Amino acid sequence: MKIHNYSPGPCILPAEVFQKASQAVLDFDQLGLSILEISHRSKNFIAVMERAMALTKELLGLPEGYSVLFLGGGASLQFCMLPYNLMKAENGKAGYLVTGTWAKNAWKEAKHFGSSVAVASSEDQNFSYIPKGFEFPEGLDYFHTTSNNTIFGTQIKAFPKYNGLNVCDMSSDIFSRQLDFSQFDLIYAGAQKNMGPAGVTAVIVRDEILGKSGRPIPSMLDYAIHIDKESMYNTPPVYAVYVTMLTLEWLQRNGGVAWIEGINRRKADLLYAEIDRNPLFVGTAAVEDRSDMNACFLLVDPAQEARFDAAWKAAGISGLPGHRSVGGYRASMYNALSLESVQVLVDVMKEFERTA
Ligand SMILES: *Cc1c(COP(=O)(O)O)cnc(C)c1O
Repeated sequence: MKIHNYSPGPCILPAEVFQKASQAVLDFDQLGLSILEISHRSKNFIAVMERAMALTKELLGLPEGYSVLFLGGGASLQFCMLPYNLMKAENGKAGYLVTGTWAKNAWKEAKHFGSSVAVASSEDQNFSYIPKGFEFPEGLDYFHTTSNNTIFGTQIKAFPKYNGLNVCDMSSDIFSRQLDFSQFDLIYAGAQKNMGPAGVTAVIVRDEILGKSGRPIPSMLDYAIHIDKESMYNTPPVYAVYVTMLTLEWLQRNGGVAWIEGINRRKADLLYAEIDRNPLFVGTAAVEDRSDMNACFLLVDPAQEARFDAAWKAAGISGLPGHRSVGGYRASMYNALSLESVQVLVDVMKEFERTA
């Protein structure tokens, strides 16, 4: 039976990526060697790293002046690496839009380095909406947003623009929709939500913002050193970078971010239309802010849970339970999930209503 994988992360990747990735474990580039046993300094792997960097810039439509890094440590390491590099040593101050669990973790982590201000927060309503119409405090070294709230299912549709450095954690929706990515001075994203496997984090940074904090930075945490060494200051996560490159090639070959945005819209429209129509379900996020990537919903009658769970499992659906802090269900519809898989879930919901 075909499995429809709604896992929130690590998550579904294109089938052809799994094919090529498994082949490269046995024989990479017809070297007679596995990609797992070659040097990261071999010309074959350097080509992979360069291609992954170039595809990232091309797919995001970035102008000159940005560097792309593929680092270890997950998006969570960026919660400290970012203030280490960008918050001023003297009277450092950063602003965070606190829109979910990850945004809150990032905000808290920056307190190790200076004043970390929650510019606005939606925690008062369990992160079910995106705060709007707030004022920025004076003198922020940077302003940090989280484009998509993976756990509670909200997404920033119009980015508040700070008149200074703008930073975004795009872990769960990078490469899912068209944006003016050059409005950001630094973007980071753990690969395992929408661009590749766990183990690598992309950092996209405008070079000229670095080296201005007045803070001594340990080498492994210094963006400038990683840029200077082309993401090979130490051994990079070779296989994760390779699988990410394959995923970006898949995206580019099919028509890039504009193409996938159209499909992601149709998937989200299809599922939200059913959540709104079906009297047995209710969405948890504010309608104007709800995420095209992670749709969160509840059963109106929680006593129906066992019956609904049996129905979606019987249809080959996997990974649907909500995060433990929200409960209910979360349908993660990352790039590689097909419209057909969303139709299967919608059909299950309709049948569940019909047989209630
Ligand atoms: C998953 C996630 C993270 C944490 O990623 P790790 O790679 O596990 O550290 C951070 N931010 C967002 C928005 C996420 O979805």
